[in-house]
Amino acid sequence: MAATARILDFLRDRRPDGPCLVVDLEVIADNYRLFARSMPDTRIFYAVKANPAPEILSLLAGLGSCFDTASVPEIEMALNAGATPDRISFGNTIKKERDIARAHALGVSLFAVDSEEEVEKVARAAPGAKVFCRILTDGAGAEWPLSRKFGCEPAMAVGVLLRAHELGLNPYGISFHVGSQQTRLEAWDSALGEAKAIFDAMQKHGIVLQMVNLGGGFPTRYLRQVPGTGSYANAIHDALTKHFGNAIPETIIEPGRGMVGNAGVIKSEVVLVSKKHANDNIRWVYLDIGKFGGLAETMDEAIRYPIVTARDGDAKAPCIIAGPTCDSADVLYEKTPYDLPVTLSVGDEVLIEAAGAYTTTYASVAFNGFSPLQAYVI
Ligand SMILES: *Cc1c(COP(=O)(O)O)cnc(C)c1O
Repeated sequence: MAATARILDFLRDRRPDGPCLVVDLEVIADNYRLFARSMPDTRIFYAVKANPAPEILSLLAGLGSCFDTASVPEIEMALNAGATPDRISFGNTIKKERDIARAHALGVSLFAVDSEEEVEKVARAAPGAKVFCRILTDGAGAEWPLSRKFGCEPAMAVGVLLRAHELGLNPYGISFHVGSQQTRLEAWDSALGEAKAIFDAMQKHGIVLQMVNLGGGFPTRYLRQVPGTGSYANAIHDALTKHFGNAIPETIIEPGRGMVGNAGVIKSEVVLVSKKHANDNIRWVYLDIGKFGGLAETMDEAIRYPIVTARDGDAKAPCIIAGPTCDSADVLYEKTPYDLPVTLSVGDEVLIEAAGAYTTTYASVAFNGFSPLQAYVI
Protein backbone atom coordinates (compact mmCIF):
# COMPACT_ATOMS: atom_id res chain seq x y z
CA MET A 1 0.00 0.00 0.00
CA ALA A 2 1.19 3.49 -0.81
CA ALA A 3 2.20 5.95 1.90
CA THR A 4 -0.86 7.42 3.59
CA ALA A 5 -1.53 11.16 3.55
CA ARG A 6 -0.62 11.24 7.26
CA ILE A 7 2.79 9.68 6.54
CA LEU A 8 3.48 12.04 3.63
CA ASP A 9 2.45 15.04 5.74
CA PHE A 10 4.72 13.91 8.55
CA LEU A 11 7.70 13.58 6.22
CA ARG A 12 6.99 16.94 4.61
CA ASP A 13 6.56 18.80 7.90
CA ARG A 14 9.24 17.12 9.99
CA ARG A 15 11.89 16.51 7.29
CA PRO A 16 13.69 13.88 9.39
CA ASP A 17 17.33 13.53 8.41
CA GLY A 18 18.64 10.07 7.55
CA PRO A 19 16.69 6.93 6.77
CA CYS A 20 13.59 6.40 8.90
CA LEU A 21 10.45 4.32 9.16
CA VAL A 22 7.14 6.12 9.61
CA VAL A 23 4.24 3.97 10.82
CA ASP A 24 0.59 5.03 10.62
CA LEU A 25 -1.36 3.61 13.58
CA GLU A 26 -4.67 4.14 11.77
CA VAL A 27 -3.66 1.51 9.20
CA ILE A 28 -2.83 -0.96 11.98
CA ALA A 29 -6.18 -0.32 13.66
CA ASP A 30 -7.92 -0.98 10.33
CA ASN A 31 -5.92 -4.18 9.85
CA TYR A 32 -6.82 -5.39 13.35
CA ARG A 33 -10.51 -4.66 12.86
CA LEU A 34 -10.50 -6.44 9.51
CA PHE A 35 -8.94 -9.57 11.04
CA ALA A 36 -11.42 -9.43 13.93
CA ARG A 37 -14.41 -8.96 11.64
CA SER A 38 -13.31 -11.58 9.10
CA MET A 39 -12.56 -14.24 11.73
CA PRO A 40 -15.00 -13.46 14.55
CA ASP A 41 -14.53 -16.80 16.34
CA THR A 42 -10.74 -16.60 16.36
CA ARG A 43 -8.58 -14.84 18.95
CA ILE A 44 -5.83 -12.63 17.55
CA PHE A 45 -2.31 -12.93 19.01
CA TYR A 46 -0.17 -10.23 17.38
CA ALA A 47 3.36 -11.56 16.73
CA VAL A 48 5.32 -8.93 18.64
CA LYS A 49 8.58 -9.48 16.76
CA ALA A 50 7.15 -8.01 13.54
CA ASN A 51 7.22 -4.53 15.10
CA PRO A 52 7.34 -4.11 18.88
CA ALA A 53 7.01 -0.30 18.97
CA PRO A 54 5.27 0.52 22.30
CA GLU A 55 2.66 2.67 20.53
CA ILE A 56 1.70 -0.29 18.32
CA LEU A 57 1.46 -2.69 21.27
CA SER A 58 -0.65 -0.21 23.26
CA LEU A 59 -2.97 0.39 20.33
CA LEU A 60 -3.48 -3.35 19.81
CA ALA A 61 -3.88 -4.05 23.53
CA GLY A 62 -6.58 -1.38 23.62
CA LEU A 63 -8.35 -2.94 20.66
CA GLY A 64 -8.45 -6.28 22.48
CA SER A 65 -5.54 -8.08 20.86
CA CYS A 66 -3.57 -10.85 22.52
CA PHE A 67 0.18 -11.24 21.95
CA ASP A 68 2.51 -13.96 20.67
CA THR A 69 5.91 -13.47 22.29
CA ALA A 70 9.27 -15.22 22.02
CA SER A 71 11.24 -13.94 25.02
CA VAL A 72 10.85 -12.45 28.49
CA PRO A 73 11.49 -8.88 27.21
CA GLU A 74 8.69 -9.31 24.64
CA ILE A 75 6.39 -10.56 27.42
CA GLU A 76 7.29 -7.48 29.48
CA MET A 77 6.60 -5.21 26.49
CA ALA A 78 3.14 -6.75 26.06
CA LEU A 79 2.43 -6.37 29.79
CA ASN A 80 3.61 -2.75 29.73
CA ALA A 81 1.26 -2.12 26.80
CA GLY A 82 -1.64 -3.17 29.00
CA ALA A 83 -2.13 -6.83 28.12
CA THR A 84 -2.96 -9.13 31.00
CA PRO A 85 -0.88 -12.36 31.24
CA ASP A 86 -3.83 -14.49 30.09
CA ARG A 87 -3.59 -12.64 26.76
CA ILE A 88 0.06 -13.58 26.23
CA SER A 89 1.45 -16.74 24.68
CA PHE A 90 5.11 -17.75 24.98
CA GLY A 91 5.25 -19.07 21.43
CA ASN A 92 8.93 -19.85 21.04
CA THR A 93 9.67 -23.58 21.12
CA ILE A 94 13.25 -22.87 22.24
CA LYS A 95 13.29 -21.38 25.73
CA LYS A 96 15.71 -21.33 28.63
CA GLU A 97 14.19 -22.99 31.65
CA ARG A 98 14.78 -19.87 33.76
CA ASP A 99 12.92 -17.76 31.15
CA ILE A 100 9.98 -20.16 31.34
CA ALA A 101 10.08 -19.71 35.13
CA ARG A 102 10.11 -15.91 34.75
CA ALA A 103 7.20 -16.01 32.31
CA HIS A 104 5.31 -18.28 34.73
CA ALA A 105 6.04 -15.85 37.60
CA LEU A 106 4.66 -13.02 35.44
CA GLY A 107 1.43 -15.02 35.07
CA VAL A 108 1.86 -16.41 31.54
CA SER A 109 0.30 -19.86 31.28
CA LEU A 110 0.37 -20.76 27.57
CA PHE A 111 3.57 -22.21 26.10
CA ALA A 112 4.66 -23.66 22.76
CA VAL A 113 6.65 -26.88 22.62
CA ASP A 114 7.84 -29.19 19.87
CA SER A 115 9.78 -31.83 21.78
CA GLU A 116 9.56 -33.91 24.94
CA GLU A 117 12.74 -32.22 26.17
CA GLU A 118 11.04 -28.81 26.05
CA VAL A 119 7.91 -30.26 27.71
CA GLU A 120 10.10 -31.38 30.61
CA LYS A 121 11.45 -27.84 31.06
CA VAL A 122 7.94 -26.36 31.03
CA ALA A 123 6.72 -28.99 33.51
CA ARG A 124 9.51 -28.08 35.94
CA ALA A 125 9.37 -24.29 35.51
CA ALA A 126 5.66 -23.66 34.88
CA PRO A 127 3.78 -26.54 36.57
CA GLY A 128 0.23 -27.03 35.35
CA ALA A 129 0.60 -24.69 32.34
CA LYS A 130 -1.18 -25.16 29.03
CA VAL A 131 1.06 -26.33 26.21
CA PHE A 132 0.48 -26.60 22.50
CA CYS A 133 2.67 -28.64 20.19
CA ARG A 134 3.96 -27.06 17.03
CA ILE A 135 4.04 -29.27 13.95
CA LEU A 136 6.11 -28.86 10.80
CA THR A 137 4.53 -27.70 7.56
CA ASP A 138 6.24 -27.69 4.18
CA GLY A 139 5.90 -23.91 3.72
CA ALA A 140 5.21 -24.25 -0.02
CA GLY A 141 3.90 -21.00 -1.47
CA ALA A 142 5.48 -18.75 1.15
CA GLU A 143 7.75 -15.94 -0.03
CA TRP A 144 9.59 -15.96 3.29
CA PRO A 145 9.37 -19.71 4.02
CA LEU A 146 10.30 -21.07 7.41
CA SER A 147 12.90 -23.77 7.68
CA ARG A 148 12.56 -27.02 9.61
CA LYS A 149 13.81 -25.21 12.71
CA PHE A 150 10.43 -25.11 14.47
CA GLY A 151 7.91 -27.88 14.89
CA CYS A 152 8.06 -31.66 14.93
CA GLU A 153 6.69 -34.19 12.48
CA PRO A 154 2.95 -34.61 13.16
CA ALA A 155 3.53 -38.26 14.10
CA MET A 156 5.72 -37.15 16.99
CA ALA A 157 3.27 -34.58 18.36
CA VAL A 158 1.11 -37.22 20.07
CA GLY A 159 4.07 -38.42 22.13
CA VAL A 160 5.00 -34.84 23.04
CA LEU A 161 1.48 -34.05 24.24
CA LEU A 162 1.14 -37.36 26.11
CA ARG A 163 4.38 -36.60 27.92
CA ALA A 164 2.94 -33.18 28.83
CA HIS A 165 -0.12 -34.90 30.31
CA GLU A 166 2.05 -37.36 32.21
CA LEU A 167 4.00 -34.47 33.76
CA GLY A 168 0.88 -32.66 34.95
CA LEU A 169 0.71 -30.06 32.19
CA ASN A 170 -2.47 -29.29 30.25
CA PRO A 171 -2.04 -30.58 26.68
CA TYR A 172 -4.03 -27.83 25.06
CA GLY A 173 -3.65 -28.00 21.30
CA ILE A 174 -1.64 -27.88 18.11
CA SER A 175 0.07 -25.03 16.31
CA PHE A 176 1.68 -24.56 12.94
CA HIS A 177 2.97 -21.72 10.79
CA VAL A 178 2.42 -22.11 7.06
CA GLY A 179 5.33 -19.79 6.18
CA SER A 180 5.47 -16.03 6.14
CA GLN A 181 3.97 -14.04 3.24
CA GLN A 182 1.96 -17.14 2.35
CA THR A 183 -0.05 -16.48 -0.80
CA ARG A 184 -1.41 -20.00 -1.21
CA LEU A 185 -4.80 -20.08 0.50
CA GLU A 186 -4.79 -23.90 0.59
CA ALA A 187 -1.74 -23.96 2.85
CA TRP A 188 -3.97 -24.08 5.95
CA ASP A 189 -6.00 -27.02 4.62
CA SER A 190 -3.26 -29.64 4.74
CA ALA A 191 -1.98 -28.40 8.10
CA LEU A 192 -5.50 -28.59 9.56
CA GLY A 193 -5.81 -32.14 8.24
CA GLU A 194 -2.66 -33.06 10.20
CA ALA A 195 -3.99 -31.26 13.27
CA LYS A 196 -7.26 -33.19 13.16
CA ALA A 197 -5.40 -36.50 12.98
CA ILE A 198 -3.53 -35.54 16.16
CA PHE A 199 -6.81 -34.52 17.88
CA ASP A 200 -8.20 -37.99 17.01
CA ALA A 201 -5.10 -39.83 18.19
CA MET A 202 -5.15 -37.94 21.50
CA GLN A 203 -8.82 -38.71 21.96
CA LYS A 204 -7.97 -42.42 21.76
CA HIS A 205 -5.78 -41.79 24.81
CA GLY A 206 -8.68 -40.06 26.55
CA ILE A 207 -7.33 -36.54 26.09
CA VAL A 208 -9.43 -33.89 24.39
CA LEU A 209 -7.36 -31.15 22.77
CA GLN A 210 -9.07 -27.79 22.62
CA MET A 211 -7.15 -25.36 20.46
CA VAL A 212 -5.59 -24.96 17.04
CA ASN A 213 -3.13 -22.12 16.64
CA LEU A 214 -3.28 -21.23 12.95
CA GLY A 215 -0.08 -19.16 13.12
CA GLY A 216 0.89 -16.24 10.92
CA GLY A 217 1.57 -16.08 7.21
CA PHE A 218 -1.00 -13.43 6.29
CA PRO A 219 0.65 -11.30 3.62
CA THR A 220 1.38 -7.66 2.95
CA ARG A 221 1.01 -6.36 -0.54
CA TYR A 222 4.48 -5.62 -1.94
CA LEU A 223 4.81 -5.46 -5.73
CA ARG A 224 2.37 -8.25 -6.46
CA GLN A 225 -1.30 -8.32 -5.55
CA VAL A 226 -2.20 -10.73 -2.72
CA PRO A 227 -5.55 -12.20 -1.67
CA GLY A 228 -7.46 -10.13 0.90
CA THR A 229 -7.99 -11.02 4.55
CA GLY A 230 -11.55 -12.15 3.75
CA SER A 231 -10.23 -14.76 1.31
CA TYR A 232 -7.93 -16.16 3.99
CA ALA A 233 -10.79 -16.20 6.49
CA ASN A 234 -13.01 -18.10 4.05
CA ALA A 235 -10.29 -20.62 3.14
CA ILE A 236 -9.53 -21.27 6.81
CA HIS A 237 -13.20 -21.51 7.72
CA ASP A 238 -13.78 -24.04 4.91
CA ALA A 239 -10.75 -26.10 5.94
CA LEU A 240 -11.82 -26.11 9.61
CA THR A 241 -15.30 -27.29 8.64
CA LYS A 242 -13.93 -29.91 6.25
CA HIS A 243 -11.66 -31.48 8.85
CA PHE A 244 -13.46 -30.85 12.15
CA GLY A 245 -17.11 -30.91 11.01
CA ASN A 246 -19.31 -29.52 13.76
CA ALA A 247 -16.65 -29.95 16.45
CA ILE A 248 -14.52 -26.96 15.50
CA PRO A 249 -11.99 -26.24 18.25
CA GLU A 250 -11.00 -22.91 19.70
CA THR A 251 -8.70 -21.15 17.21
CA ILE A 252 -6.11 -18.41 17.36
CA ILE A 253 -4.10 -16.60 14.68
CA GLU A 254 -0.73 -14.90 15.10
CA PRO A 255 -0.44 -12.26 12.39
CA GLY A 256 2.77 -10.24 12.31
CA ARG A 257 3.45 -9.04 8.77
CA GLY A 258 -0.26 -8.89 7.91
CA MET A 259 -0.93 -6.61 10.90
CA VAL A 260 1.79 -4.00 10.42
CA GLY A 261 3.51 -4.47 7.04
CA ASN A 262 1.38 -2.06 5.03
CA ALA A 263 1.34 0.53 7.82
CA GLY A 264 4.95 1.70 7.43
CA VAL A 265 7.05 3.51 4.86
CA ILE A 266 10.81 3.96 4.93
CA LYS A 267 12.19 7.25 3.70
CA SER A 268 15.65 6.83 2.20
CA GLU A 269 18.03 8.87 0.07
CA VAL A 270 20.18 8.09 -2.96
CA VAL A 271 23.84 8.33 -1.95
CA LEU A 272 25.44 7.41 -5.28
CA VAL A 273 24.47 6.36 -8.80
CA SER A 274 27.39 4.86 -10.73
CA LYS A 275 28.53 2.29 -13.28
CA LYS A 276 31.31 -0.27 -13.17
CA HIS A 277 32.75 0.42 -16.64
CA ALA A 278 32.24 2.98 -19.37
CA ASN A 279 29.72 0.94 -21.37
CA ASP A 280 27.96 -0.62 -18.42
CA ASN A 281 24.26 -0.82 -19.25
CA ILE A 282 23.20 -1.25 -15.67
CA ARG A 283 23.49 1.42 -13.00
CA TRP A 284 24.33 0.79 -9.38
CA VAL A 285 22.06 2.79 -7.08
CA TYR A 286 23.34 3.05 -3.51
CA LEU A 287 20.80 4.04 -0.85
CA ASP A 288 21.40 5.18 2.72
CA ILE A 289 19.67 2.01 3.97
CA GLY A 290 20.48 -1.61 3.20
CA LYS A 291 20.44 -5.11 4.64
CA PHE A 292 22.02 -3.98 7.91
CA GLY A 293 19.84 -0.89 8.29
CA GLY A 294 16.55 -2.78 8.42
CA LEU A 295 16.04 -4.36 4.99
CA ALA A 296 17.24 -7.83 6.02
CA GLU A 297 14.27 -9.46 4.31
CA THR A 298 15.87 -8.67 0.96
CA MET A 299 18.07 -11.68 1.79
CA ASP A 300 18.00 -13.92 -1.31
CA GLU A 301 15.88 -11.08 -2.77
CA ALA A 302 12.91 -12.72 -1.03
CA ILE A 303 10.91 -9.61 -0.26
CA ARG A 304 10.73 -7.06 -3.08
CA TYR A 305 9.58 -3.76 -1.67
CA PRO A 306 7.76 -1.21 -3.82
CA ILE A 307 10.13 1.75 -4.26
CA VAL A 308 8.66 5.11 -5.16
CA THR A 309 10.50 8.24 -6.30
CA ALA A 310 9.45 11.73 -7.36
CA ARG A 311 10.70 10.92 -10.89
CA ASP A 312 8.50 7.89 -11.54
CA GLY A 313 6.96 9.61 -14.58
CA ASP A 314 10.33 9.45 -16.37
CA ALA A 315 11.64 6.51 -18.41
CA LYS A 316 12.90 3.62 -16.30
CA ALA A 317 15.84 1.21 -16.67
CA PRO A 318 17.11 -1.71 -14.58
CA CYS A 319 19.41 -0.98 -11.64
CA ILE A 320 21.28 -2.93 -9.01
CA ILE A 321 20.29 -1.52 -5.63
CA ALA A 322 22.70 -1.65 -2.71
CA GLY A 323 23.04 -0.31 0.81
CA PRO A 324 25.62 2.09 2.23
CA THR A 325 27.78 -0.23 4.37
CA CYS A 326 31.21 -1.65 3.59
CA ASP A 327 29.94 -5.22 3.54
CA SER A 328 29.75 -6.66 0.06
CA ALA A 329 26.68 -8.68 1.08
CA ASP A 330 24.83 -5.40 1.51
CA VAL A 331 23.18 -5.60 -1.92
CA LEU A 332 19.39 -5.57 -2.04
CA TYR A 333 18.49 -6.48 -5.62
CA GLU A 334 21.01 -7.75 -8.18
CA LYS A 335 19.91 -11.19 -9.47
CA THR A 336 16.66 -9.56 -10.48
CA PRO A 337 17.51 -5.90 -11.14
CA TYR A 338 14.98 -3.26 -10.24
CA ASP A 339 13.54 -0.70 -12.67
CA LEU A 340 14.17 2.85 -11.49
CA PRO A 341 13.94 6.19 -13.36
CA VAL A 342 16.92 6.95 -15.59
CA THR A 343 16.93 10.47 -14.16
CA LEU A 344 17.35 9.28 -10.54
CA SER A 345 20.19 11.29 -8.99
CA VAL A 346 22.31 11.68 -5.87
CA GLY A 347 20.30 13.24 -3.06
CA ASP A 348 16.90 12.13 -4.39
CA GLU A 349 14.50 10.83 -1.79
CA VAL A 350 13.01 7.36 -2.29
CA LEU A 351 10.12 5.83 -0.39
CA ILE A 352 10.27 2.13 0.39
CA GLU A 353 6.68 1.08 0.90
CA ALA A 354 5.06 -1.71 2.91
CA ALA A 355 8.03 -1.67 5.29
CA GLY A 356 6.18 -1.74 8.63
CA ALA A 357 7.10 -5.35 9.48
CA TYR A 358 10.50 -6.88 10.20
CA THR A 359 12.54 -3.72 9.60
CA THR A 360 13.30 -1.86 12.85
CA THR A 361 13.91 -5.14 14.67
CA TYR A 362 16.31 -6.36 11.99
CA ALA A 363 18.48 -3.23 11.92
CA SER A 364 22.01 -3.67 13.28
CA VAL A 365 23.12 -1.60 16.27
CA ALA A 366 25.76 0.47 14.47
CA PHE A 367 27.44 -1.50 11.71
CA ASN A 368 29.98 0.90 10.16
CA GLY A 369 28.67 3.49 12.61
CA PHE A 370 25.27 3.78 10.96
CA SER A 371 22.54 4.22 13.59
CA PRO A 372 19.77 1.68 13.97
CA LEU A 373 16.69 2.51 11.90
CA GLN A 374 14.91 5.53 13.35
CA ALA A 375 11.15 4.97 13.69
CA TYR A 376 8.26 7.38 14.11
CA VAL A 377 4.85 6.02 15.01
CA ILE A 378 2.08 8.48 14.24
C1 LIG B 1 7.02 -14.79 13.35
C2 LIG B 1 5.88 -15.58 13.85
C3 LIG B 1 4.58 -15.24 13.49
C4 LIG B 1 4.24 -14.12 12.55
O1 LIG B 1 4.39 -14.52 11.23
P1 LIG B 1 3.90 -13.60 10.01
O2 LIG B 1 4.17 -14.42 8.83
O3 LIG B 1 4.69 -12.34 10.09
O4 LIG B 1 2.45 -13.34 10.22
C5 LIG B 1 3.56 -15.99 14.04
N1 LIG B 1 3.79 -17.02 14.87
C6 LIG B 1 5.03 -17.37 15.23
C7 LIG B 1 5.22 -18.51 16.17
C8 LIG B 1 6.12 -16.68 14.73
O5 LIG B 1 7.35 -17.04 15.09
